Amino acid sequence: MLTYAHATHRGLKRLENQDAVGTFPREPEGITPQKGQLFIVADGMGGHQGGREASQMAVHLIEEEYFKNHVDDIPRSLKTSFDLANDAIYERASSDPALHGMGTTSTALVVRGDHAYIAHIGDSRAYRITEAGVEQITQDHSQVEELVRRNILTREQAERHPQRNVLSRAMGVQPEIEIDLIGPFPVRPGEYYLLCSDGLARVPLHSVQQTVLSHHPQEACDLLVQAANAEGGHDNVTVQIVRIDAAVPPPSSPSWIPVAIGLLLTLVVILAVLLYTGVLN
Ligand code: CA
Repeated sequence: MLTYAHATHRGLKRLENQDAVGTFPREPEGITPQKGQLFIVADGMGGHQGGREASQMAVHLIEEEYFKNHVDDIPRSLKTSFDLANDAIYERASSDPALHGMGTTSTALVVRGDHAYIAHIGDSRAYRITEAGVEQITQDHSQVEELVRRNILTREQAERHPQRNVLSRAMGVQPEIEIDLIGPFPVRPGEYYLLCSDGLARVPLHSVQQTVLSHHPQEACDLLVQAANAEGGHDNVTVQIVRIDAAVPPPSSPSWIPVAIGLLLTLVVILAVLLYTGVLN
């Protein structure tokens, strides 16, 4: 059982929102035991219309392919979906000069039963949030982050680096992509999973944690978008929250049945006694 929500906003400085977000299947009736539920955040980049086009294509194509292929090996299914989305975006960017150079991040979370899976490229993020803390599950594919991993920059230097937004990997900019596949990992009741674009980066993580733990997911998404805008709203911002709820207990027989059976048996015994004594008289 999951409770989920998302919110996306243009921010205060950009002319349009180039982020895209989706939750699939759109209707709970469409959920199957093979495919579970798919959550995606994509943050487009490049050109006047390119960024918006790329992120929307990514969400749409990943969804379409993920549910179309009948592979119940989720990492394989996600990888195929990401590869096909990359092919289509790259192809479109190459064939239309107005879209040349467009690309997008894509971070997808699948929850199936009590396990989750993540496929990821770019610098959108997936976090696990509990009372104990906030854990970043994905690694940013940015040039600055690669330098931190190689100990060339410190975390503090990276956060102030002028090129901190330059991606080292993205979808749609090259004919082939290398994505990170994470999982399966167990999900537990009370945990929250948060996907976001880098527009949320200026909101301190302790305040993200507080907001997520103390509000319904929809309210928390709206509050986090407001918080990003309160920090300047320099970028588009998208937040998607998935709360893992307790599993529904298997249906058991209603409690009135044993009581009714007990009463019926008592009645039968009384009748039998009455008949017996009647016969004797
Ligand atoms: Ca962004």
